[in-house]
Amino acid sequence: MTPRRDVYHPTDYQPPQGSWASSEPNRKTMLANRHRDTGPELRVRRAVHAMGLRYRVATRPLKAVGRSADLVFTRARVAVFVDGCFWHGCPDHFSLPSTNTDYWTTKIEGNALRDRETDHLLDDAGWTVVRIWEHELALEAATQIAGSVRERLAALKPRGAADRTRLDEAMGGG
Ligand SMILES: [Zn+2]
Repeated sequence: MTPRRDVYHPTDYQPPQGSWASSEPNRKTMLANRHRDTGPELRVRRAVHAMGLRYRVATRPLKAVGRSADLVFTRARVAVFVDGCFWHGCPDHFSLPSTNTDYWTTKIEGNALRDRETDHLLDDAGWTVVRIWEHELALEAATQIAGSVRERLAALKPRGAADRTRLDEAMGGG
């Protein structure tokens, strides 16, 4: 089964000024992209915040899974990852560096495998995983995230219904 990706690819994408996609990738920008508060992630966070949604930043949705999501909606159980085009092997923008190709192939494939594993673990635990590429427009990404969060919140059982279910179980009913 193909892991759910929830990825949106705008066709009118222009790489942001100074991003690795607008110039020759080099080690320095790659390393800069590893940092948490990267431009793309900040833009997505701001756009989601402006929509009135609140979230936790860079926290583990599941204690047992040693991977932090970039935005975590605890009650809605939505975990958002903003994936760098280089580090996560974006199909549109990743290109293998011309040196140390074996190293980079192993590295990037390993990252992608780990991403899929993280998706499955979270999905199994009842979380919705939303993955955003760093090249996506922040507003489009935020709209997608807000949609997932609202969908999950709407599906939450009202408290009264949950109490009735517990009572039914206690009474031996269905
Ligand atoms: Zn990309």
